[in-house]
Amino acid sequence: MLIDTHAHLDFEDFEKDLDETVRRAIDAGVGIMINPGINVPSSRKAVAIAELFDCVYAAAGIHAHDVADCSPDVIDEIARIAEHPKVVAVGECGLDFFRNYAPRARQLEVFRDQVRLALRLGKPLVVHSRGAEEETLQVLTEERAELVGGVLHCFGGAPDQALRAQILGFVVGVGGTLTYPRSDRRDFVANVDIHSIVLETDAPFLPPEPHRGKRNEPAWLPLVAQKLAEAVSLPLDDVHRITSSTAEVLFRIGRAGSSHASCPSATAPRSG
Ligand SMILES: [Zn+2]
Ligand SMILES: [Zn+2]
Repeated sequence: MLIDTHAHLDFEDFEKDLDETVRRAIDAGVGIMINPGINVPSSRKAVAIAELFDCVYAAAGIHAHDVADCSPDVIDEIARIAEHPKVVAVGECGLDFFRNYAPRARQLEVFRDQVRLALRLGKPLVVHSRGAEEETLQVLTEERAELVGGVLHCFGGAPDQALRAQILGFVVGVGGTLTYPRSDRRDFVANVDIHSIVLETDAPFLPPEPHRGKRNEPAWLPLVAQKLAEAVSLPLDDVHRITSSTAEVLFRIGRAGSSHASCPSATAPRSG
């Protein structure tokens, strides 16, 4: 069983065929999906989807792209949403100094607030860091995020940064980019501890080969798992077992959680 630790099922892209998308994932062996929110409405919708499907969990947070004009009480709103039992993490939050859709000072401020919220709630973090790996590690270190841990999703940094993240209780998310012909991620995964890696699609973004140019979806996660197995020279079964167990322990779900989300019985209550 695979776990897609990062799928934006709440996005409009899945509005028309959400049931089928979840069904295809389950049929492909992706038994659990985590849907991170990117702002207040998105986090609310992620929770609503998690209520619909046993095998979908949510995270609640404000993305770095969305912090520019969020209201002062936005963290309180996220805190309320995050109390829901199917919210397993705070996020997606973090820093994006590549696109810089919001001023850096504001990004840092709202990221720090969300790390503190995660500590208050005792839930791990789902962190986005692009072009800001050092700054991200610095905030996590200063705020003592090792008390909750989390995932640095779609990690683009170096192996030594992944190791520092691991010491802080963070794992790295690996997705479709691993399958791209000129990707440096295969070297990267070969040089980090397999126990510090979780799998993700980041759907609807970053579809793996041979689906580039299309909408990504959780059912394509096995293509990433296959590439990871090749890159680290491990049997595919081991990659499934290790990455899923890492995600289960981090997010306290599946076998490591209080309520076991059994994949075959995870049904979509709506029809069509
Ligand atoms: Zn992201
Ligand atoms: Zn994301």
